[in-house]
Amino acid sequence: MRYLNYIDGQWKEPVSGEYKVNFSPHNQENLGEFPLSTAEDAQEAIAAAKKAFSSWKRLSFQQRAAYLQKAAEILKANLQEVGRDLTLEEGKTLAEGIGETQRAISILEYYAAEARQPLGQVIPSVNAETFLYTTRVPVGPIGLITPWNFPIAIPMWKIAPALIYGNTVVIKPSDITPKCVYHIMNAFDKAELPAGVLNCVFGRGSVVGAELVENPGIKAISFTGSNQVGLQIQNQATARGKKVQLEMGGKNPLIVLSDADVNKAVEIAVSGAFRSTGQKCTATSRVIVEEGIYELFRDRLVERTKELKVGNPLDHDTYMGPAVSKEQRDGVLAMIEAGKAEATLLYGGEIPADEDLAKGFYVQPTIFENVSRDARIAREEIFGPVIALFKAKDYEEAIEIANDTEFGLSAAICTNNLTLAERFIADIEAGIVHVNSETAGAEPQVPFGGCKNSSTGSREQGKTAIEFYTQVKTVYKDR
Ligand code: NAD
Repeated sequence: MRYLNYIDGQWKEPVSGEYKVNFSPHNQENLGEFPLSTAEDAQEAIAAAKKAFSSWKRLSFQQRAAYLQKAAEILKANLQEVGRDLTLEEGKTLAEGIGETQRAISILEYYAAEARQPLGQVIPSVNAETFLYTTRVPVGPIGLITPWNFPIAIPMWKIAPALIYGNTVVIKPSDITPKCVYHIMNAFDKAELPAGVLNCVFGRGSVVGAELVENPGIKAISFTGSNQVGLQIQNQATARGKKVQLEMGGKNPLIVLSDADVNKAVEIAVSGAFRSTGQKCTATSRVIVEEGIYELFRDRLVERTKELKVGNPLDHDTYMGPAVSKEQRDGVLAMIEAGKAEATLLYGGEIPADEDLAKGFYVQPTIFENVSRDARIAREEIFGPVIALFKAKDYEEAIEIANDTEFGLSAAICTNNLTLAERFIADIEAGIVHVNSETAGAEPQVPFGGCKNSSTGSREQGKTAIEFYTQVKTVYKDR
């Protein structure tokens, strides 16, 4: 099937007439072809978003919320189909694909409800005649640039707040997983969203993404992806006076203290590191274990990892599907090779031997120990199912190792010691902190984002999204 751009309320062929075929990472099945758009297509979408902005921003919040609610209902009716498409395209398991689609629906519902929340404050003025207050206004047409690993949740957690606060949107989804954003466009199209309010241009980052960053019609850029691309975008966009928000990489630690429930800690480590094939910005990649239980934890971690079924993500008993692409798997294998030279391989490290998986981009869940703090596998984001295990003599050493990274997205601790849990919450340099649960993202109603080199700009999701998607106006109203 051939998918088209969605511009000014119309499904449109790209000017180039060129398309890219997408294949399943499990078995290379053809999943459809998507436009390889040009800067001209992006310019048309930006012009449509500019034109639609003047009327969209004048609607009431409740009127805008009605479109979000309708789109949510449409996606809900197609939940199984969309979740399955996500799994086919990205490779995460069907439960994860459906779960992520459900999350996207919850995000729409959450921001539809935000339409009833206050926008500002009334502040007493020094002048008795003055009514002094703050309100918030939309920013304008916004460019959204999204990655492949959460192909429906991330686009939605940008689209929903952008629209509810009165902005119009041009989105460029990852060219590796474009189909979920097609489903989002389809839902809003069926919800009869006014033309030009939401536009989607499929294609390459260096072409379509770059046009969004450079074009003066776009007033703000919200980007999620790699640090390399994000920082380049930040320089270009801020030089053009645009508001920028970046969500980037992670190297997320899990600390396991001696008093922790070992089996529970193992399950938390395995799920945090290997679910979604480790292709999460919040994936657990460093596990730091207090020496009192190091050997016990390590042995059980290896035992449990051996039990995980790696396979077709559509099978209900599969724990871990393939990497999203050959390039992604090759990158993970290269980091594993680096790990073999600088640490001790405890388990995994290979492409699975199973013939049924030969056409897919599979890699075994992998565990290293004796990892030095300056090893590549200790410092660089792998974005694959690889754990680097560290032994720490006590909490103090564990927190020092955990914070010894340029990233600061998510972090977790397993302990029953409330005092140390509290200290961890205060000491850890991360935006999302877990006690006795895995490093993971956030529910729609709470802020999502990190510190250090993981994020810049204000937080996504929850009430904090209003910071990026609006501007404050201070109003002096005199009689
Ligand atoms: P990527 O940086 O390669 O691509 C992200 C997006 O940027 C894609 O849509 C891509 O086409 C576009 N792009 C590429 N070059 C561009 C350019 N020159 N100008 C404009 N746009 C351009 O990232 P990816 O491989 O899709 O995703 C994986 C990365 O995303 C990982 O580093 C991961 O940690 C990060 N990530 C972060 C979060 C978070 O919230 N912190 C969430 C998910 C993923």
